[in-house]
Amino acid sequence: MTTKLYENTVFLEHGVPGGHPERPDRLKALNLALEHPNFADLERVEAPIGDEDLVLLAHAEEHLRGVKRGIPDEDINQLEADTYATPQSLVAALTGIGGAVAAVDAVFKGEADNAFIAARPPGHHAEKNKVMGFCFFNNVAIAARYAQRAHGAERVAIVDWDVHHGNGTQDIFWDDPSVLFCSTHQIPLYPGTGAKDETGVRNNIVNAPLSPNSGSEHFRDAFRTRVLPALENFRPDLLLISAGFDAHHRDPLAQINLVGEDFDWATGRLIDIAGRSAGNRIVSLLEGGYDLQGLAESAGLHILRLMRG
Ligand SMILES: [Zn+2]
Repeated sequence: MTTKLYENTVFLEHGVPGGHPERPDRLKALNLALEHPNFADLERVEAPIGDEDLVLLAHAEEHLRGVKRGIPDEDINQLEADTYATPQSLVAALTGIGGAVAAVDAVFKGEADNAFIAARPPGHHAEKNKVMGFCFFNNVAIAARYAQRAHGAERVAIVDWDVHHGNGTQDIFWDDPSVLFCSTHQIPLYPGTGAKDETGVRNNIVNAPLSPNSGSEHFRDAFRTRVLPALENFRPDLLLISAGFDAHHRDPLAQINLVGEDFDWATGRLIDIAGRSAGNRIVSLLEGGYDLQGLAESAGLHILRLMRG
């Protein structure tokens, strides 16, 4: 497989208060892991800044205006309970979008089979009109809508294995059957949504919650019995991954006990699906993952599987 990795040093410039888990060190830890010779063939690309109009593919104009109003000229501003902005945060968030849409372009033009966007801030908690849970703009939702508008994708599937439910993505696609949203996550846990009976207006939402202290077998079972059959049935022409790595057993924010190999396994299953209906096209976006060692190991194995097919 040809795999592109989108990165940009501006992602390190989105600041957070001391002790905040969603910190620049996360990307530094991943970068260190990517120095291994295993990643010599990974094509590393500088993510371009995305146009502000791209935000409107998934968000209300008022949301964009609100985020821009919240960006301070200096120091740090609290946007909501868990989400902070510093002067470069808007540029970082727009560059995350820019990387995501550039990756969508690359897989549809045949310049890559798949891609990973190593961006922060993350996106999956951002609702149509709400900054939430470290997230400004919903990168994966914008990528899905962009693929539909720019490349004629008819059915886009989003798989979200971040340990927190992707409430923002669910909110945006609740009544849009052209997008299938499948999520595994811990319940009870922030943000509190993601019950099995939240199915969207056309059964286009598939939530597979896991109980605290679930491990590899529970996760793989949820994938085999809920996520994979829904994807097989949907036959996406693009597969997007909200790739959070906070279900790793070392992660401090949740109580799921996955190991790095689980992310390798899940990636392999999604590569099979994408090979059958989507011309291999997978675009994976970094969401959470707050233990530096767990994140580096898990994301490394995920990217390595994308490269090896
Ligand atoms: Zn998370």
